[in-house]
Amino acid sequence: MRKTPRELVRDEILALKAYHVSPAQGMVKLDAMENPYRLPESLAARMGEVLAGVAVNRYPDPVAAGLKARLREAMTIPEDLGVVLGNGSDELIQIISLALARPGAVALAPEPSFVMYRLSAIAAGLEFAGVPLAGDFSLDEPAMLAAIAGRRPALVWLAYPNNPTGNLFSREAILRIVAAAPGLVVVDEAYYAFSGGATLLDEVGRHPNLVVVRTVSKLGLAGLRLGLAAGPAEWMDEFEKLRPPYNVGALNMAAAELLLAHADVLLEQTRRIVVERTRLEAALDGIAGVRRFASAANFVLVRVPDAAAAFEGLKARGILVRSFHGSHPLLANCLRLTVGTPDENAKLTEALASILSPQNA
Ligand code: PMP
Repeated sequence: MRKTPRELVRDEILALKAYHVSPAQGMVKLDAMENPYRLPESLAARMGEVLAGVAVNRYPDPVAAGLKARLREAMTIPEDLGVVLGNGSDELIQIISLALARPGAVALAPEPSFVMYRLSAIAAGLEFAGVPLAGDFSLDEPAMLAAIAGRRPALVWLAYPNNPTGNLFSREAILRIVAAAPGLVVVDEAYYAFSGGATLLDEVGRHPNLVVVRTVSKLGLAGLRLGLAAGPAEWMDEFEKLRPPYNVGALNMAAAELLLAHADVLLEQTRRIVVERTRLEAALDGIAGVRRFASAANFVLVRVPDAAAAFEGLKARGILVRSFHGSHPLLANCLRLTVGTPDENAKLTEALASILSPQNA
């Protein structure tokens, strides 16, 4: 008798839920931390020409020296650090988890944080230990240090700024965790572009167990799927063994090389997003019933009286955000709002104000 998927697939995979992506056709899309701005037409046209010249009959360049050099320049990654490219930083999270998945090994992260740390750990066969954040979403440092001492994790994930809370953890606390950790600490700087320059990159290389992960997704290139890990060569050499040889497609590579040569365009867009974040925060602060949390990213977490009702109310008005209600006790009635264009943000705050106004209660 042939066995069914239920009998063949590992129990821990059967128990997982797939990463959720809502259909967004025709909606004001404020659910996925995308940059809302398209490329300028002239640059998009240039990209079309460059892509037309790519030899798609050939596999992509497996070394990608040109692209790596562009990324190093755009992200000021020192020459003495190794770099591994991923198909998005999602793939790097998988690769790092796989590399460290010795039998019985533990991956640890504060929670709530990016769900792929847990998902990739479990997929790789690691045990996952989540340590609750403090009530203000800062790291509960004593709890983290106690968990590190007790569980001896091979891998610790820290998102800096954190998703979905939006805040930056204390740099000093992170460094104390790096010093205390018996294994690798990966600082995931997906939202670096909005953090006002907060980074641990300057510390990489000074600690044998510290690696930084970055992505071009939030810079305005989410569709390309390109991320990188930067760290000591002895780590990068191991991760490189697990990188599928052609994980970044030739078109993506060529587009990224061109667009990173015009990083000023993307950086200007990110500056506008940071300005808009401040305006969105002010507008949210003016809506009765909204509790807003501080953000160093391109999204703002808010707590409302009834997140499910607010989510549905926004959806009915054509606005898609992300509700985290039910995902973690600290996120009760929380919605995550991606910063959009001025027009999108105005639609969002007007809709939220009307949903939460006492007449509608
Ligand atoms: N890290 C964090 C903290 C994220 O929030 C995300 C995207 N939601 C990622 C990594 C993955 O980004 P990408 O795969 O697009 O590089």
